[in-house]
Amino acid sequence: MLRFPLNTRSHTFIRRENNEPHFNGAAYGIPHISTGDMFRAAMQNETALGLEAKSYMDKGALVPDEVTNGIVKERLAEPDTEKGFLLDGFPRTLDQAKALDAMLKDLNKKIDAVIDIHVGEEILVERLAGRFICSNCGATYHKIFNPTKVEDTCDRCGGHEFYQREDDKPETVKNRLAINIKNSEPILAYYKEQGLLNTIDGAREIDAVFADVQKIIEK
Ligand code: AMP
Repeated sequence: MLRFPLNTRSHTFIRRENNEPHFNGAAYGIPHISTGDMFRAAMQNETALGLEAKSYMDKGALVPDEVTNGIVKERLAEPDTEKGFLLDGFPRTLDQAKALDAMLKDLNKKIDAVIDIHVGEEILVERLAGRFICSNCGATYHKIFNPTKVEDTCDRCGGHEFYQREDDKPETVKNRLAINIKNSEPILAYYKEQGLLNTIDGAREIDAVFADVQKIIEK
């Protein structure tokens, strides 16, 4: 499942489980804030946050809410979020969704819409297992659904080195999905109740899904 609430007026988005490369804030001139990317950067830099996050991420488990909420709160206070932002991979629990509301209230911002891009479990496993990432610039590809234009060459930076995320390996993917699916229902209900939820079919070509996302953002 791929989902993101968004604030169309100030272009605030939240997205989950992304493997759709078109969906990033750059298209709207706003920052793309991915909690997974922030944790991976902290891991790479071997900070205390990175070491803590690693013990959860390696198992496909969620990093505790207080840690995750803390990094999002700090990030949302940065000036580049003024015109809006895309949140990717957050909120992943109902408590995070509620904490986000409190943060946005403090910052005088709000979510205008939530997009739930629904993808069945089997397809998700296939998508995650086939995902590979450019080691140089982080661009994301899929060996069947979104390959590089030229074999073994990154479309974005021309790099030739790629890797598979440790937690995209089959054993970890299953655990990640089970956790995400369990936590999704109450979050969807929470945003539905607020009249913010839009559900679209994500089991299609990237361009078709993106066209639907754009319609929602621009309406
Ligand atoms: P992602 O790149 O969004 O798939 O996230 C990779 C991993 O980072 C997840 O499997 C979790 O271990 C951790 N993570 C990312 N976002 C969150 C979040 N909102 N809450 C808790 N853990 C998270």
